[in-house]
Amino acid sequence: MADKITYKDEKLTVSNNPIIPFIEGDGIGPDIWNAAQKVIDAAVEHSYEGSKKIEWLEVLCGEKAFDKTGEWLPSETLDILRSHYVGIKGPLTTPVGGGMRSLNVTLRKELDLYACVRPVRWFRGAPAAIIDPYRVNFVLFRENTEDVYSGIEFPKDSDGAKQVIDLLNELGEGHKIRFPESSSIGIKPISKEGSIRLFDSALQYAIKHNRKSVTIVHKGNIMKFTEGYFKKWTYEHAEAHYGDKVFTWMEYDRIKEEKDIHAANAAQSEAESEGKIIIKDVIADAFLQQILLRPDEYDVIATMNLNGDYLSDSAAAAVGGIGISPGANINYKSGHAIFEATHGTAPKYAGLDKVNPSSVILSGVMMLQHMGWTEAATLIERALEMAIYNKRVTYDFERLMHGATLLKCSEFGDEIISNF
Ligand code: NAP
Repeated sequence: MADKITYKDEKLTVSNNPIIPFIEGDGIGPDIWNAAQKVIDAAVEHSYEGSKKIEWLEVLCGEKAFDKTGEWLPSETLDILRSHYVGIKGPLTTPVGGGMRSLNVTLRKELDLYACVRPVRWFRGAPAAIIDPYRVNFVLFRENTEDVYSGIEFPKDSDGAKQVIDLLNELGEGHKIRFPESSSIGIKPISKEGSIRLFDSALQYAIKHNRKSVTIVHKGNIMKFTEGYFKKWTYEHAEAHYGDKVFTWMEYDRIKEEKDIHAANAAQSEAESEGKIIIKDVIADAFLQQILLRPDEYDVIATMNLNGDYLSDSAAAAVGGIGISPGANINYKSGHAIFEATHGTAPKYAGLDKVNPSSVILSGVMMLQHMGWTEAATLIERALEMAIYNKRVTYDFERLMHGATLLKCSEFGDEIISNF
């Protein structure tokens, strides 16, 4: 009999027949979800010879929910996602410059899914924007609940904007706004608690998976008390709680100041040879260059919400584009996790059975890993890589490869299954 996944004492309990809620998504959502569900089911069947099976439970969100219930995000959907702990979703439409709030952001906020986890790696044969794409293999942890995504914004001429500007004048900061009469205002909160819980997840991941470094990516040179403090708090946390497992660039700087650069380099080399994780930092714009030029210097990344949004798509593009980039939104304390395609609804391709379903399929791989069903996860990953290597791909890859065979979205899913 199918049953719910449970979570207690930071441990997920998954039966052989777990119920997993899914949101099909808008636009291309149905196409990619159908392909993905078929692949995931076949991989589970193949790996466990029928002893394990997922019971899928559709929950409504987005346009489908609105058409059926008049609500974009029915409370029943949130209740089910909350009580089942693990879910998966396709993309959802978000209007720009007004209208309802992003459903993705609402889901993350409601379930407090503070860590957005985006692995970025190259699959053999995938058309890549950089030379030597095999050098890219990192996991990006993006803070998911703070920053400019908090949604505290006041439009130009509104009472809210005027009151904030008045307050800034009282605080002696008003002169910093170049055009106060015609400014919209947005607020960017970054907390110590939020920064540390995100960073801690990244560091725990690095420890568990024997990664070499965690890089804090920030723009603290400009936003000193938000992004700068993200860097300060996370370095301090690493030193205070993981002193025996890490070597930080803060420590490096201290040694350099007390002794010299040779002593600092020697200390870092010694830490590396002892298997300690190097905690370092880089400014966001420099990082955007370096992931293209020196990607192998990065391993696990910890950053804030907006940086993480830009960086993850840019990094994904370097190794094949967002059609193939998976993601997860996780609260490591409550156990809630939603795995998701990272691209949008690509409305012009909706219903054409055309687009690449890899993003949601690989999100399914992350979900299977999270559940401990690693055999099925590995099977899908290898079979997907084989499809790309054999140049049997969807339009987005086909147009960038020589001599490739063009497959529809559903055919690409079947190709993966035939490679098992
Ligand atoms: P988008 O839907 O990601 O599409 C932009 C382009 O990316 C597409 O035109 C296509 O490129 C490529 N692409 C996206 N998915 C692909 C796939 N599976 N396979 C191959 N190529 C793919 O971005 P958008 O047009 O900016 O946004 C559309 C809607 O999606 C908006 O309402 C936005 O808010 C929403 N959105 C939702 C999420 C989410 O639910 N997580 C994320 C981002 C955006 P080509 O045209 O070059 O073929």
